[in-house]
Order: sequence, then structure tokens, then C-alpha cells
Amino acid sequence: MVRTGRIPTGRRLAAGVIALTGAVALLASGCTGAGTDGFRPGAADAGDPYVPGRGNGGYDVTHYGLDVRYDPASDRLTGRAVITATATQDLSRFNLDLHGLTVDAVTVADASADHRRRDDELVVTPRDGLPRGRQFTVTVDYAGVPDAIADGELGSGGFLHTADGAIALGQPDSAATWFPVNDHPSDKATYDVAVTVPDGLSALSNGVPGPTNSADGWTTWRWAERAPMASYLSTLVIGNYRVTTGTHAGRPMVTAVAASLPATGGAASSVARTGEIVDFLASRFGPYPFDSYGGIVVADDRIGYALETQSRPVYGPAFFTGDRPHPGVVAHELAHQWFGDSVSLTRWGDIWLNEGFASYAEWLWEEHDGGRTAQRNFEIQYAATDWTQPSVEPGRERMFGTAVYKRGALTVHALRRTVGDDVFFRILRTWTAERAGGNATTSDFVALAERVSGRQLRPLLDAWLVGGSAPTLP
Ligand SMILES: [Zn+2]
Repeated sequence: MVRTGRIPTGRRLAAGVIALTGAVALLASGCTGAGTDGFRPGAADAGDPYVPGRGNGGYDVTHYGLDVRYDPASDRLTGRAVITATATQDLSRFNLDLHGLTVDAVTVADASADHRRRDDELVVTPRDGLPRGRQFTVTVDYAGVPDAIADGELGSGGFLHTADGAIALGQPDSAATWFPVNDHPSDKATYDVAVTVPDGLSALSNGVPGPTNSADGWTTWRWAERAPMASYLSTLVIGNYRVTTGTHAGRPMVTAVAASLPATGGAASSVARTGEIVDFLASRFGPYPFDSYGGIVVADDRIGYALETQSRPVYGPAFFTGDRPHPGVVAHELAHQWFGDSVSLTRWGDIWLNEGFASYAEWLWEEHDGGRTAQRNFEIQYAATDWTQPSVEPGRERMFGTAVYKRGALTVHALRRTVGDDVFFRILRTWTAERAGGNATTSDFVALAERVSGRQLRPLLDAWLVGGSAPTLP
């Protein structure tokens, strides 16, 4: 994610405290459903203090099959989610995250299941307990007028009704505003999304496009993301867009620019460089991890940021103010396809693993594109850094702060200066290859860097990531 700098920070904290209180109350009051033979409810929370109440325990989702219909005229969404999961404990009951919307019916393994709502939790009690290791399917029928998360870190998060359609986007919260989900990046899954909208509108999402078909004034668009995806990296963009469909390196490339933006302006020319930028990044980070490419530029000013939604980042309009191109933001979001999307964090406190590398990729791209060298950006940023703010565990209110982005990028360059280019890029390529499609932590990265380099690097990385004073220049 990169924001355009206009969104005030820190507003999320109060809401987080309220959500935490709610989660504690739920845990305290709701634990009466344990079966008689060791079956017990899954946790109502992933245990990540940066997102209280988000995520759930007791199962692991492998696939979401989403079929949604959205009518911009009424702002009403109707959906069916078919979720394939595996029980990770003997499970009597489990939760999904769902913000707003009304649930009409839930089945588990084709049998009707009891379901209740508690705030942003959908609590499902299957007819029979699910033994550990059992794969099961949950089908949820739901509908309503989606509700954005008004106090999200990035401004309005989640499902936004726009002038011509809708945009579902946001970090760390967004997915639960339009489908029931285990809404934490530690549980990644593949997706098939079918979106039905009035004829004439586009409906864009992640992954490879499937066939569209029209009937009775409605058109269904289909998308498939075959690589595991964290829920906050899912997106849905509906409206009037100029959609360009082609191929790059033998894979589908789908870009879209809001029809209200200039056809040949800065936004269009920037996303048109997606293939060129992705190829440059692949030369540094290793093979591109997904089976499609793309990007979407929206025109709604409430999207004051760009987000690395998997295989198809979404860019807010302010990056292209004055119709200027901005390939740097494209480089940032495309770098996340390796760092954050393919290799995902396990806990939000490690978000520098996403943003430090994506910010460093901006420096690499700028140097490649004839601008400042990475070394020069490093020197400028080193002089400007407040070393009292840590990159790791920055605190919830600073998870999109300078220490995560810029100090993170400084750390990456300090590692490069210490081990040399050859070993440095081997570390990056080993990381993206070994961890592709999975999750990782800062400790995992340190261990891998030490193994690949054959050197003890923890003291260096500790000093650059979390030390309280300016580290010695390598
Ligand atoms: Zn970012």
C-alpha cells in the first residue's frame, strides 16, 4: 500500500479498543457449545492485536467460491459464498467474519446449520461436530446494502458505493464487508468470483478472467485466483471502465482505467507500463508469482491510496493529479506481488516485510528508470530517519508509518551493502521461491538471510529494524 498523504492517521485506535472489548465479551459469554467428547468451538479471533476480532480459529480455508449480484441503483448486494475448509481441531462451532449484510441460510456439508450474528461475527454451529482433519463445505446465502468501515486506517474501507458502481478495497479490513470470510492474512485461500452487474458496467476482480455471459439485462463477469490469496488482497471494482485485455509473457493482462479519467493521460500511461515494470522486478526478485497481471485506476477520491490487490493492484486517482504519470507507485504495488501477496505476513506487526521491500523496489525502479540511485535515496533517507520508531511491531496506529516503509527500505539496503549484490539478490530470490504462496515472519527472514549468506546477520538487522539510535553505516 502507498497512500497519497492526505488521510489522517490514528483514528482507528478507539474503534480497535471497542472491537477488542466485543471480542472478549464474545469469548467470555459464548463458550457453552462444546460437545461432550472433546469437540469445542473455534476461536473467534486470529489472536492478532493489530486487528482485534478479525480472523477465526479451528479451521483453515482452502477456497472461496463467491457468486454475487450487485445493483448500483439500489446499492443492494445478493451473494452466495461456498467456502471449502479443513477443521484444524475437533470443532463443534466456528465463526466467520461478516460486517453488515443479512444471512438467510447456512449449510455445512449440505446440512442446514444453526447460525447467529454477534457484531461482525457469523457464528455457525453445524449439525454434527467436525473432526480434526475433516474437509467441509460451508454455504452462506446473504444479502443487503453493504456497509463500509467508515473509520478504517485508510479512510473509508471495504465496500464503497460509488457514482457508477462500487469499490471493495482496504487494508487491513475490507473483505468482510462483501463476503463471509476468515478475515486474516494467516489463512490464505484460492478464489473463484462471479459478479453479476447491469449490462454495460464492468466488474473487475483478481486473477484470470473467465467467460462473461449476459441475460435479462445483467452480465456476469468471472475471475479465478489460483494462487493462495490473503483476504485483504481481494477486490471488487464495478463501474464504467475502459478495460484493456491482452497477454504478457503468455499470461492474461487485464488493466482498467475509470472512464471518467483521460483515455491517454497519466493514469492510463502508468498502468500501461505494468508489463515492463513487472519484468524489471522479476529480474531482481525471481519469477513473477501469479498467472495473471494487471491494474485498475479508480476515479473515486475516497480511495486516497494504492493497494497491492493480488495480480491486479488498485490505484487511487490522486497519484495522477494534473494528468502526470507515476510509474513509481506502480513499481511499489507490483513489488508487493512478491513481498506481501505471494509471501504474506503471519501477523500485522511484521508489515515491514511488505512495505520495506516495496519501498525499496521504488528505489530500484527509480535508478533503473534514470533517476536517483538506490544508494542516494538511502543516504537521503538515513539522514531524515527518526530512529526511536521501530520497523517491527510499530504499534497499530503506526502500521502505515514512516518506520515501516522508509526505515524498512533502509534495512534492506543496509543488508545489501553488508553482504554484497550477489548474495543480497540470492537472499531475495530464495525468500520469494521458498516462501511462495505462504506466510512468514521477520524471524523467518533473518534465519533465511543467515543461511543463504553464511553470516550472522541478526545483530545487523536488529540495529537497522528496531535499534533506538542511528546504526553504523555499512
Ligand atoms: Zn505498500
